[in-house]
Amino acid sequence: SSVWASVQQAPADKILGLTVLYNKDTNPSKINLGVGAYRDNDGKPWILPSVVAAEKVLSQTEENKEYVPIVGSPNFNSLIKKFLYGASASGQSLVDSGRVVTSQGISGTGALKVLAEFTKSFYPIRKVLVPNPTWANHIAILEKSGLETEPYRYYDYESNGLDVTGLLEDLRKAQEGSVILLHACCHNPTGVDPTLEQWDEILEVVSQKKLLPILDMAYQGFRTGDPIEDLAILYKFCDLVAAGKLDNFMLSQSFAKNMGLYGERVGSLSIVTSGEEESVRVKSQLEKVIRPIYSSPPSHGSKLVEIVLSNPEIYAQWLKDVKVMNDRLVDMRALLYDKLKNTYKNPLNWEHLLQQQGMFCYTGLSPEQVSSLIDKSVYLTGDGRISIAGIYEKNVDYLAKAIHEVTT
Ligand code: PMP
Repeated sequence: SSVWASVQQAPADKILGLTVLYNKDTNPSKINLGVGAYRDNDGKPWILPSVVAAEKVLSQTEENKEYVPIVGSPNFNSLIKKFLYGASASGQSLVDSGRVVTSQGISGTGALKVLAEFTKSFYPIRKVLVPNPTWANHIAILEKSGLETEPYRYYDYESNGLDVTGLLEDLRKAQEGSVILLHACCHNPTGVDPTLEQWDEILEVVSQKKLLPILDMAYQGFRTGDPIEDLAILYKFCDLVAAGKLDNFMLSQSFAKNMGLYGERVGSLSIVTSGEEESVRVKSQLEKVIRPIYSSPPSHGSKLVEIVLSNPEIYAQWLKDVKVMNDRLVDMRALLYDKLKNTYKNPLNWEHLLQQQGMFCYTGLSPEQVSSLIDKSVYLTGDGRISIAGIYEKNVDYLAKAIHEVTT
């Protein structure tokens, strides 16, 4: 008899489960609002023109497919430092003083996993404060790495906005020195971000309570349409360090969404240290963390990123590509709002559709309303989150009508 005979069926992954249902549905008007991946105005995945150009360069210049170093190639790491920190005086000065250790990550998830393992090995406090709600995989990654998670208030179900008072209260009463996970922008699943002024208040408490931040940046570029402008939040962390109000922070960053490199699995992690000599030690241990997990990262996606970040023309094209994606998401929010309020005269307040940012919107729909929508072939998660990327001109009317019907 098999040694696995007693293995129980795991519960279906919520989002992948939805896709299975969606694929089986024969209704030609079916809509998938589950998956957080960009789609163009015909509902198709999009390979960014900048990435197509980078592929062309790579096919002509690639010399080998050798292993890359454990933390990624030196060129990748130096470009990443320049890209993430270079446009901020305090960020650049951290880099110049050897205080930023970076590594390629297997996209954002891999970067988070490595940061979680590193934290467990070298930080004495196990507790990680996470927003309520947060991306479900955050909790899985942190807990599977031997850390404990504790929710802090984040979303206000009354206003469909940020519960900033609850958030600050929870941070103030947290154990000093706890790790805190913060979404850099376009919070998943709610689409609700603090304003820049609210960030200052949050960071003040982070500083007072000596919290150790992990900033997770999976949607850079989808807040303002400009990836560099979206670094304003990261720069606030750099400024705080420069002001001597924060000693360390960590960053996980992904090119899945903003370069459309989902399946290539490329991103990075950063660990801010007290100086050059500490960075050497930290990097040596980072290698010891990564080596037994996946030995070294994949190289195709990171070579594309290196080309995009170093070739001025392709980089300029990339900035345009991000703007195209972001503009379409903003347009779809406005279009859905317009259909709900003006075409169908839906009595609910849908302002949050316009105010929330990025790929996701927390609609405020109840689990019962969600299940009625699924009966109408509109697929979304039970928490009422919709991926704006799944909306396009041809399906928005069907969607608005369905939402109107289940809410009135
Ligand atoms: N963090 C958050 C909040 C996310 O939503 C995602 C993507 N769903 C990630 C990290 C990581 O994604 P990836 O591993 O594809 O870069």
